[in-house]
Amino acid sequence: MRRLILSDIHANLEALEAVLRDAQGTYDEILCCGDFAGYCASPAEVIDWARGNVRHAVRGNHDRGCAGTADISDFNLPARVATLWTRSQLPREDLDWLASLPAGPVFAEEFQLCHGSPADEDEYLLSSSLVEPLDEFMLRPVCFVGHTHIQGGWSWQRGGLLPLSRPALTESERIVDLDPDYLYLINPGSVGQPRDRDPRAAYAVWDSGERLLTFRRVRYDIRAAQSRILEAGLPELLAERLAFGR
Ligand code: ZN
Repeated sequence: MRRLILSDIHANLEALEAVLRDAQGTYDEILCCGDFAGYCASPAEVIDWARGNVRHAVRGNHDRGCAGTADISDFNLPARVATLWTRSQLPREDLDWLASLPAGPVFAEEFQLCHGSPADEDEYLLSSSLVEPLDEFMLRPVCFVGHTHIQGGWSWQRGGLLPLSRPALTESERIVDLDPDYLYLINPGSVGQPRDRDPRAAYAVWDSGERLLTFRRVRYDIRAAQSRILEAGLPELLAERLAFGR
């Protein structure tokens, strides 16, 4: 089975379309680690697509915020503005769909799917020291997470934790051979608002039969996504940051 792994699309339709074009023909089903909405200006289009195309998904903190099922007082101001704008734009059925997304982890035969971490859906896994104690929560050999908007991950190998690297700025992909004896925690990166200093949309393809994981980056029309954000009257910062990937 070949799976397209997406996360943190954040209503960025231009980035999502570029990813789907780039990945065409390389996968059988789609998984998403949450945050379909928030930040960018095409929430209804992205949710429409997700409802018909994503096989397994978990909710993100922005999905809960937009659905009105979570407190957003700890969001920064631009995130809060975008959340309230999204809430005002979406039809009831889309808000209900966001509210119906499950909290992670979602378990399938071969993998588990989470937003933040397998222990806490809101945890930001930004360093090895935070990941190290999570091996007891790894109930499948492969676990996918999102939330940090940073492509990469870790593997538990003999002798400790080893980071997995994403493509360099000059590369479009990085392939990881998955060893059946190791555990893998993998972040596909953010489709719609990368924060790893690479503005290209991020995603991953996992071929469980061949035991291959491919991290990919793809250029998209950032200017079009920015214009849409500005036309919607959303904070300028949310448009600007897309160009820097942070
Ligand atoms: Zn996010």
